[in-house]
Amino acid sequence: MNNTIEVAHVFARPGAEAPLGPSRLHLREGRIARIEALPQVPAAARHLVALPALANAHDHGRGLRTLAFGARDQSLETWLPELAYEPRVDPYLRAAVGFARMAEGGIAVANHCHNTQDGTALLKEAEGVSRAARDVGVRVAFAVPFAGRNGVVYGPIEPLLARLPDGDHARVKRMRTPARTTAENFALVDAIARLEHDCFSVQYGPVGPQWVDDTTLAAIARASADTGRCVHMHLFETERQRAWADAEHPGGLLHHLDDIGLLSPRLTLAHAVWLDDADCRLLARRGVTISVNVSSNLRLRSGVPPWTRLLDAGVCFGLGLDGMSLDDDEDMLRELRLAWHLLAASDRRGRFTFADLFRAACVHGRTTVTGPDGGGVLAEGAPADLLVLDTRHSTRDRITDDRPALLDLLVGRATRRDVHRLVVAGRTVVHEAACSRVDLPALEAALLAEAREVERVSPPDRPAIERLHQAVRGHWGCAGC
Ligand SMILES: [Zn+2]
Repeated sequence: MNNTIEVAHVFARPGAEAPLGPSRLHLREGRIARIEALPQVPAAARHLVALPALANAHDHGRGLRTLAFGARDQSLETWLPELAYEPRVDPYLRAAVGFARMAEGGIAVANHCHNTQDGTALLKEAEGVSRAARDVGVRVAFAVPFAGRNGVVYGPIEPLLARLPDGDHARVKRMRTPARTTAENFALVDAIARLEHDCFSVQYGPVGPQWVDDTTLAAIARASADTGRCVHMHLFETERQRAWADAEHPGGLLHHLDDIGLLSPRLTLAHAVWLDDADCRLLARRGVTISVNVSSNLRLRSGVPPWTRLLDAGVCFGLGLDGMSLDDDEDMLRELRLAWHLLAASDRRGRFTFADLFRAACVHGRTTVTGPDGGGVLAEGAPADLLVLDTRHSTRDRITDDRPALLDLLVGRATRRDVHRLVVAGRTVVHEAACSRVDLPALEAALLAEAREVERVSPPDRPAIERLHQAVRGHWGCAGC
C-alpha cells in the first residue's frame, strides 16, 4: 500500500534533531520509504507537523471506563473491589472502544494487560481483543494474566474475614481461588499466539509478584528465555505492596526476581513507584523497562514515579495510561505534558530534555510492545507509524513565528483535538481527530446499550460489593483513602 503525506515540518527525533522543513513522506508497505524535501509548503499542509506516533506502555483496554461503572478514584487496594461493578460485555466491543479511544488520543502502539471478565473464557476474550486491534488498526501486545494468590488483600485473609459477616466468607475465599492453573495459562499463551497478526502479539502477564507464586514466576522466566516472548508485570504500584514485599523477601524482592531469572530486557514493569536506589541500579543493569503511569498513580493515590532515582540509575522507561488518564479521555498528549512537568519539578539538575521525553513516549514504550523494530523515529526504512498534528490551536496566540519554538508549544498545549492524522503501518487510523477504520460513536453506543441491559437484567450484588469495600478499607485503616 502506497501513500504520501505532506507537512510543514517533520520532527524525525523530536528534541534530538532540529525539525525538517516542508516535506513529503512516502510510505510504502508499512514503512517510510522516503522523506522528500519540498521547495515550499503546500497550502493544505501549512499547519501540519509530523512526529513519531506515541506508545501506551501499560493499559487494560477497558471500553467501559472505571468511573463509568462506579469504581471511584481512591487507593488501589480499596479500588480493586469496586471493579466488580463492571458489567460483563462483549469482549470485542470492550476492546474496540478502548483501542479506538486510544488511537484518537494519539496512540499507535499499546500494551493490553488483559483483565478477564470471565476467567474460563480467556481464549474467547483474546479472540475479541485480537479482532479489535485489527479493526481499529493499532498495534497491541496482549499480556495473558497469570495470578493465583493474595487476592483481595496481601497476606492472610483471616483478618479481613473477621470484618465481614459469615455469609460472605465463602464468596471472598473463592476470590482467592485461581480461575486457571499455571499449565492452563501456558497452554492459553500458545493458543492465543495463534491469533497473532501484524497488530497483535502475545506476552506473559504475571499480574504482580504479590499475586503470583514463585514457581509460576520462575516458569515464566524460563519460558521467556526459551521463546524470546516478553513479560509484562505490575510491580510496587503502592506503598502497601512494597511493605508486603519487604516482609516476604528480607533480601529484597528485586534480588529474588533476579535470582529466578525474571529480570531481563524482555521484562516491562508497570508503575514501580516504590523502587529504591539499589532496585533502580539492578533494573538498569538488567535492561528492564518501566512503564510509568503518572495519571493513574495520582488517581489511585499511589504516589509519583521515582524520577530522580530512575534518572540517576539510567533506568529505561516509557509512559502508560493504565486506563486512568487524568481527564479520563485517553489523551496521550496530555499525559506527555503531565509527565514532563512532574519530572522537570523533580529533576533539579535539568538532565531530562524533550529528546528524552519523546524517546520515552515513542521509542521505549513502543519497544515494550513491538520489541526493537526501528520504530519511534521518522526515518527512511522505519515503520510508518506517525502522528500528524494540526498546530493551529497550539500556535494561535504566538506573537512571532519562531518564538517560542514549535515543540515548546506542542508539549505545552497539544491535545487529542489536534490529531490531524494517526498512521500505523502506513494505514490511516485516525483522520481529523476521529477514527477512520471503525465508527467509534456507533461502537460506544452499542457498548453502552449492552452494559445498561446487562446491568438491568443481572445487576451486580451491590450490598456485597460495598460490604467488601468497607472491610478492605477497614483492613488497611483507610479513613479517607
Ligand atoms: Zn495496570
